[in-house]
Amino acid sequence: MPPSGALNPYTLAISGSLAAAAILMPQPLYAQALRSELVISGGSIYDGSSLQPIVGDVAISGDKIVYVGGTAKNPYKGKRVISAKGMIVAPGFIDPHTHADEFLASKDSRSRLNLPWMMQGVTTIFTGVDGHGQPGGKTDLSGLFKSIEQQGFGLNVAAYAGFGAVRHAIIGDSARAPTEQELAQMRAIVAKGMCEGALGLSTGLFYAPQSFAKTGEVISLAREAAVRGGVYDTHQRDESSYTIGVVNSTKEAIEIGRAAGMPVHFAHLKALGVDVQGMAPELIAIIEAARASGADVTADQYPWEASGSGLDAALLPRWSVDGGRQAMLKRFEDPAQLSKIKTEMQDNLRRRGGAHSLLLTAPRLPWSGKRLDEIASQWKITPVDAALRIIKTSEQGSSVVSFNMAESDIKLLMRQPWVMTSSDGSRGHPRMFATFPQKYAKYVLKEHTISLAEFINSSTARTADTFKLDRRGHLKAGYFADVVVFDPARYRPKADYLHPEELTQGVQTLLVNGALAIDGGKATGVAAGRGLKHVPTAGTCSG
Ligand SMILES: [Zn+2]
Repeated sequence: MPPSGALNPYTLAISGSLAAAAILMPQPLYAQALRSELVISGGSIYDGSSLQPIVGDVAISGDKIVYVGGTAKNPYKGKRVISAKGMIVAPGFIDPHTHADEFLASKDSRSRLNLPWMMQGVTTIFTGVDGHGQPGGKTDLSGLFKSIEQQGFGLNVAAYAGFGAVRHAIIGDSARAPTEQELAQMRAIVAKGMCEGALGLSTGLFYAPQSFAKTGEVISLAREAAVRGGVYDTHQRDESSYTIGVVNSTKEAIEIGRAAGMPVHFAHLKALGVDVQGMAPELIAIIEAARASGADVTADQYPWEASGSGLDAALLPRWSVDGGRQAMLKRFEDPAQLSKIKTEMQDNLRRRGGAHSLLLTAPRLPWSGKRLDEIASQWKITPVDAALRIIKTSEQGSSVVSFNMAESDIKLLMRQPWVMTSSDGSRGHPRMFATFPQKYAKYVLKEHTISLAEFINSSTARTADTFKLDRRGHLKAGYFADVVVFDPARYRPKADYLHPEELTQGVQTLLVNGALAIDGGKATGVAAGRGLKHVPTAGTCSG
């Protein structure tokens, strides 16, 4: 808040004998400065929504911003002043799609800083995405928020209730519909999650066993989130040509939101694989039409041409994993079923762009850092047989980076005013360590796909406003002091596909709720993140 009349030091300064001098001589507006803990001074300030920066100061007191504006008019004298000359000052980045479970579940205080994201300048992450639920596949959100309060966490965290975790808790991995009674149990778990502070319901209908759910089942659960003010966030059923196709899949998600009465948010929107590359204009047209008809539809996107997945999810037909891993391994033993599996895998491999488009990324395994075609020729077997051998050997060891997107689609989606930055960060893909600098270095500086202001807006205010995060995502007096200061000449991705786990450099200062998380380019060890609980619609939660 700007100083009010009663507290205005200027009023105090001109009373008394100095009054005449104050009028005659040029004096600073506030002869006696207000105090604040910190002033970030002289940087190029992008407040999150404006197109042009201003050069000036951001003053912070407690966990809030108290001033944003020109240096000459800044009434605040910080206990500490950090010079940001030549730096970009922006709201801390918000990442609406992360797989940060290992950090959230960790007991180690360094791990709980969540450095891969923190060093990029991220101050808020969303978790529970793709329908996965909370760390360990839990459906409970209160435990997550309690652990953030009690053990600390480096960044703010918002969380979804996860459709897959809920379905798994009641009917396991089977490919069947729930009974009426099971459906009621599932709805009750979603309702509980919403009342514990979930942003909404997330799904990953691409993944088994969530893929076994029909549209009506999803709508039924989504309604529990809708009545409590939640959003529907989805890794949609098909981003490619696997089952219903990306066009029908996009329509299905919009239909779920319409039928349940809630906003729809597409996670990591893309056109995946050779059959659908170039289809971004069609997807945009479908979403624009829904928006024009009054539906609230948005999306996030990661700035990489490769996705991250497992060989199993990427190549195996869904029927072959009905019942879980043991049932799958059993099917591999049956020659008739195996031959059918291989035929479908061959087609899925073609869809993904062939064996050279899959890079194995799990660390410390004989195939780490190699392409699937390379491994197959080394083992003197077909790529499909090589993939099967890897899947059989190790569940975790099959993680891949999958080069399957067209640059033209990535750029067109990035320019849409309803698309925001996300990482989808998980181990084995540089997006976990370098998404935000990647978007800045490649799509702002090198390719001029978007402007610096658009990069910042799509990484801060747009996301905070879409998800109605309370006083986040803007540099404004009265807002929480989540602030990033980065060096435009040094802020670059250090991680790449072959070295996916290099921390980003170039963030000079990072504030999370007013506390210095990064100071002089180094993490301070301070874990000042908070659980950002969504407040359910009044009267929809008892007790
Ligand atoms: Zn996903």
